[in-house]
Amino acid sequence: MNIAILSRGPGLYSTQSLLIAGQKRNHRMFLIDYSDCSLVMERNRPMVYYKEEPIDYLDAIIPRVGASGTFHGASVIQQFEMMGVYSILSSEPLLRARNKLRSFQMMSRSGIRLPRTAFGSYTERPDFLLESVGGAPVVIKVLSGTHGMGVILAESRKTAESIIEAFQKLKEQILLQEYIREARGEDIRALVVGDEVVASMKRKAPPGEFRANLHRGASSSPIKLTSTEINTAKEACRLLGLKVAGVDMLQSHRGPLLIELNPSPGLEGIEETTKIDVAGKIIELIETEASKRLSR
Ligand code: ADP
Repeated sequence: MNIAILSRGPGLYSTQSLLIAGQKRNHRMFLIDYSDCSLVMERNRPMVYYKEEPIDYLDAIIPRVGASGTFHGASVIQQFEMMGVYSILSSEPLLRARNKLRSFQMMSRSGIRLPRTAFGSYTERPDFLLESVGGAPVVIKVLSGTHGMGVILAESRKTAESIIEAFQKLKEQILLQEYIREARGEDIRALVVGDEVVASMKRKAPPGEFRANLHRGASSSPIKLTSTEINTAKEACRLLGLKVAGVDMLQSHRGPLLIELNPSPGLEGIEETTKIDVAGKIIELIETEASKRLSR
C-alpha cells in the first residue's frame, strides 16, 4: 500500500517508528507535513496538494497532529477521506478528543468514570462550582493545555479563587476537577489500537510534583491493567470514534478514572517502556481495515 504519515516532525521518534514499521511490511511510505498541504475544492474533485504536487496516489494516511495543528490537520484529513483515502484517525474524532470539555460531556453521559469535573461562570458561581467537585484541594485545568502545562493543584480555596480569577482575566477557559489524592502522583496510560489495549504503562511523577507527564520528568514502568481499566479505555475510544489513542487514567478508590484521551499518542515512552512494537500494530490495523474496505 501507499501510506503517508502526516507529521510536522520528520525526525520525531513516533514518525520514524511508523515509517520503519511500514517499510518492514513492504509498504511504500511517504512523509507529508500537513501544514504544507493545500486543499483545493471544486465540483466532484476534492484534491490535496503537498507544496504544489497533487497527492492522488495514497491508499491510507496516519495523521500525527499536534495540538496547535488541530484545525489544519483535521481539514487535511477530511479532504483525504473525501478522496477515498483511508485514515486511521478521522477528522471528527480528532476534533472531539481535542476538546476536553466536549469529550468529558460525552463520556459522562455514557457512564465512563471520570473525576468530578465542572465548567461554568466562575465569577457568578465560584462556591457552587468549587463545591460541586468536592472543594479544595482542587485541580484547575486550562482547556487548551497539553503535556501537563496548565494543570494546577490549588491546595486551598483562597488559592483556587485567585488562580481562577487570574485565568478569567486572561480569558483562558478552564475546568475545575476533583483532586484524586490516592493517585499519589501516578497515572496509567493504555495504548489502544483497534479493539485492543496493545501496551500499557504506569507513570510516576518526580518528588514534589503531582503531574505524571513524561515531559515533566516522570518515570515509567510496564503495568498489567485490570479488566475494568482495559474496558474503560476501549469504551472511551469507541465512544469518541478513535481507532488509535493513548488513554490516561488515575487509579482511585472507586476504580479507574479517565483524565485524558490523546488521539496522536507519542510512541517513544510506551515503546521504550514496554518493548512492544506499537507502530507495527498500527500498520497491521491499517492493513486489516483497508482490506475490509476493498472487499466491500
Ligand atoms: P495534559 O493533557 O496536559 O497531560 P492531564 O489532564 O493529563 O493534562 O493532567 C496531567 C497530569 O496531572 C496527569 O497525568 C496526572 O498525573 C495529573 N492529574 C491530572 N488530573 C488529576 C486529578 N484530577 N487528580 C490528581 N492528579 C491529576
